[in-house]
Amino acid sequence: MTIYTCGPTVYRHSHIGNLRTYITADVLRRVLESEDLQVRQVLNITDVGHMTDDSGESGEDKMLLAASDEGLSPTEIADKYTRFFLEHCAALNILPAAIYPKASDHIEEMLAIIAGLIEAGHAYEMDGTVYFDVDSFPAYGRLSQNTREHLRQGARTAEIDPAKRNSYDFTLWRAAGPNRLMKWPSPWGEGYPGWHIECSAMSLKHLGKRFDIHTGGSDNIFPHHEDEIAQSEGLLGHEVVGYWLHCRHLLSDGRKMAKSAKNYYITASASPRQATPARCNGSARDRLRASRRTSRVREDTSCSRHARS
Ligand SMILES: [Zn+2]
Repeated sequence: MTIYTCGPTVYRHSHIGNLRTYITADVLRRVLESEDLQVRQVLNITDVGHMTDDSGESGEDKMLLAASDEGLSPTEIADKYTRFFLEHCAALNILPAAIYPKASDHIEEMLAIIAGLIEAGHAYEMDGTVYFDVDSFPAYGRLSQNTREHLRQGARTAEIDPAKRNSYDFTLWRAAGPNRLMKWPSPWGEGYPGWHIECSAMSLKHLGKRFDIHTGGSDNIFPHHEDEIAQSEGLLGHEVVGYWLHCRHLLSDGRKMAKSAKNYYITASASPRQATPARCNGSARDRLRASRRTSRVREDTSCSRHARS
């Protein structure tokens, strides 16, 4: 069995809501291995290209913002929070993946996919930035239900990038401005990759042209995984992922656990007892809540499974 787990953007600590996604993938893996199946799991490390607003064209690179905030280089930020992430996973008794590929080590593979998409008529370049042409991929929206019709309606009030053919096209490669720290040469000039292209590049490289299960958080469904499908299938002309498994958000004080909401916990102070993965005995549709009073996670589960139609 082959599993690709959408990994962290290493610009800050992962809170237990983030880590809970990896616990779910770990439980899945342990169940498969208990059935004597051999599992190869790849978990990527995002160290470039993840913008604060991935649905539109505005926003800033999360890695560069953190580097600026902490007075470190982007590489130092990535190394620091990758180390914390792996320590936290170990504290939670999550089995290590076979490999932790870094986005910045796969620029060549991303460029090759983008060139292939242009050649296949799925992408176009404007002033050094390359966009995916969503109209060229009729199956767009199959995972998230965000079809082109829905997106077209939603785009009425959104700020539209005039370089795009359609408002719902997304960026594969962005032209670098003069002050951009992380940039690479490309056939379209110096630039850097969009967030979504990295997971096409790393999954295809490390798991092949078809793999069994792709996991992530529910906030990855759109646009990240919808766009990954368009990229990988647009390039190869066939389905790549057998099953998608997404975890719903962990709730804290009745709301999604998030750094911005200030209702999050990290595992640094967790005791070994608290760090034992929760027993899953609830309905698959339940939501999982962390309680501030007990500082323990309630023992139910809330995975949503998105099988491909
Ligand atoms: Zn991903």
